[in-house]
Amino acid sequence: MIVVKFGGTSVGDAEAIERAAGIVKGRLDRQPAVVVSALGGATNALLAVGEQAAKGHLIGALRGVETIRSRHLTECENLLRGSEAADEIAADISASFDELASLAEALATLGHATPRSFDAIASFGEILSSQLVAAFFRLRDIPAEHIDARDVFVTDRNFTAAEPQIDEIAERAREVVQPVIQEGRVPVMGGFIGRTADGITTTLGRGGSDYSASLLGAALHADTIEIWTDVDGMLTGDPRVVKGARLIEQIRFDEASELASFGAKVLHPNTIAPAVRLGIPVFIYNSRNPGGNGTRITFDAPRRPVSAIAGKGGVTVVKVGAAKMLFARGFLRQVFEIFERNGVSVDVVATSEVSVSMTVDDATGIESLLVDLSALGDVSVERDLAIVAVVGAAISDSSSAMGRAIGALGDLQIHMVSLSASGINLTIIIDGDALNTAMERLHGEFFSDAEKKRK
Ligand code: ADP
Ligand code: ASP
Ligand code: MG
Repeated sequence: MIVVKFGGTSVGDAEAIERAAGIVKGRLDRQPAVVVSALGGATNALLAVGEQAAKGHLIGALRGVETIRSRHLTECENLLRGSEAADEIAADISASFDELASLAEALATLGHATPRSFDAIASFGEILSSQLVAAFFRLRDIPAEHIDARDVFVTDRNFTAAEPQIDEIAERAREVVQPVIQEGRVPVMGGFIGRTADGITTTLGRGGSDYSASLLGAALHADTIEIWTDVDGMLTGDPRVVKGARLIEQIRFDEASELASFGAKVLHPNTIAPAVRLGIPVFIYNSRNPGGNGTRITFDAPRRPVSAIAGKGGVTVVKVGAAKMLFARGFLRQVFEIFERNGVSVDVVATSEVSVSMTVDDATGIESLLVDLSALGDVSVERDLAIVAVVGAAISDSSSAMGRAIGALGDLQIHMVSLSASGINLTIIIDGDALNTAMERLHGEFFSDAEKKRK
């Protein structure tokens, strides 16, 4: 069997869902299980309803509910007009938005929303898109069966970034999804959403439908996992930032994983882990260009000094200086224990003779971390920085790649440089407002047309 995942733009409207149906139809002999995101932009719109309600702005929240209701009803009409399913699905959609409106009223009365409420609100997007897509696929003679993803994706209670419970998911997938495939039908489920063991709706974090797809693929030992999106595959740089980003036809699991972690939004950072455990190849394709080559992510892609560039902003560097203690036994362990105790995860680490610098992605609530760290030495914090990552499996073997990367940044101030433990990712910390310039310069250095001719 294979897993076929469609992102938000790939199910954004009736035309896109029609293309998705064509893609799935062409794969029926490979026993596809389909995972879909919410209609493009729906999750943002839903979360905005939650935010309005939490501020006590009930009218704004209810207007938001009506806008999203109307969009879903329009797409329902475009997709299912005249069919028997149309009224039933329209009634389900409307009932869901009535429920959402009641939730918004309750939150507006409280003037407060918890992460748990935000998950409940966001989950409407994937619940509804998967129902719509399943109903439309049936109209196109695909024997689709809608499955509530929450019956399969068991998670912990870490709302808005819930941790999937791998063994339970595998068991549920065998119980709930496998029989559908074995009977020759096509399961269609929402990505991103899950449920705690005691039945409360959770989400896997923004962009999490990719992760759902790979969790399902691993649970069912899929032959491949296909991620259908709005670009031709994984590119050498973020196409929204760099000019001339090129398609990477094959890339290694470890490289793709690093790129996703350091800003290549095309894949959720956790997508690779379940696939790599079983060596299931992951493909990225463009749903607007279904005949394209796409990107194939496996163990055996060529080892290149530089495969791609990625970058992300909003980075904070925490530096702990302790002249004598740094290399005293147990010092770094104490530092990391403090991070763990405070629930803050470290991204990049660099040590010098007298200090250790660490980057954190989410600096909300690090105050108590800083207080704890100050017991170990002088603590300083730099905010509003960015990370650029130059990723290539053979970057450490190349005599020139690292030097070229640093050289290409020219006059940009560098705060920290680190080569990942796996030796495939050179990360450079720069000022936040220099992020796009840095990505353009690095991409130009390694992937410009002149560089292509030189190779
Ligand atoms: P989906 O809704 O299909 O999950 P996303 O918006 O999450 O799509 O991810 C696709 C987007 O990722 C692309 O439109 C592109 O702008 C962005 N992106 C950033 N870096 C890369 C990269 N290296 N390769 C391809 N796309 C990238
Ligand atoms: N709909 C969710 C989001 O926008 C999940 C996803 O699209 O992957 O974050
Ligand atoms: Mg995505």
